[in-house]
Amino acid sequence: MIRQAIIRYLERTGQTTLSPKAVLFDMDGVLYDSMRFHARSWHETATRHRLISAPEDYYMFEGRTGHSTIDELFQRTFGRTATLEEKESIYQEKAALFNQYNDGQPMTGAAEVLQQVKACQLQTLVVTGSGQLSLIDKLNQSYPGCFIREKMVTSYDVKYGKPDPEPYLMGLEKAGVARNEAIIIENAPMGVQAGAAAGIFTIAVNTGPLPDQILTDSGADLLYADMLSLAKDWQKIMDIARTEKG
Ligand code: MG
Repeated sequence: MIRQAIIRYLERTGQTTLSPKAVLFDMDGVLYDSMRFHARSWHETATRHRLISAPEDYYMFEGRTGHSTIDELFQRTFGRTATLEEKESIYQEKAALFNQYNDGQPMTGAAEVLQQVKACQLQTLVVTGSGQLSLIDKLNQSYPGCFIREKMVTSYDVKYGKPDPEPYLMGLEKAGVARNEAIIIENAPMGVQAGAAAGIFTIAVNTGPLPDQILTDSGADLLYADMLSLAKDWQKIMDIARTEKG
């Protein structure tokens, strides 16, 4: 399964090798078990503003910036985009609710994945569509020595955000590596689309309620049910990547 995935990646991108030097981690749903709190605070905020949505929508929107989510809700409800003022105040409201609900729990198995990645001497970076400073600032405490702020890509750094490849291309630049020298770990369809569009080997971990098929259709090269099973396979992925040539 891993070998076939790497061969397919090499064929698709025209690269001759997959030589990992850096791992680009998404944050929500990968490093933190925070998606249900995002979905809940988004849905409550939207409902207060009479914006049409269902709690599940936010798992499909995951990865895009807050402003882009608000535009989408305005489009479907009122047939127009939101003004900057509306976007700023609604996002602030959502962020405040999120801070109230979120328990800051790291994702089960994420520390084990990081341990494996570090043991392989790979760089570790965060590439998130989030602007929630409460979590971004907590990364160093949850995962000591793994992520430094200068090498993070957040909603404050990007113009388009996921599903555009932009955030992951910025991640490559910050890591100083080529696209075939990185691996992405993502849980969201739009994040996987961004990774695939950037030409980077993208591993999906389905930590939420969406069917696996959505992540595969979005372009995931490999799919795991949780971070712990990815940690168990990590060395195998590295060994196969090092021997497979396109
Ligand atoms: Mg995510």
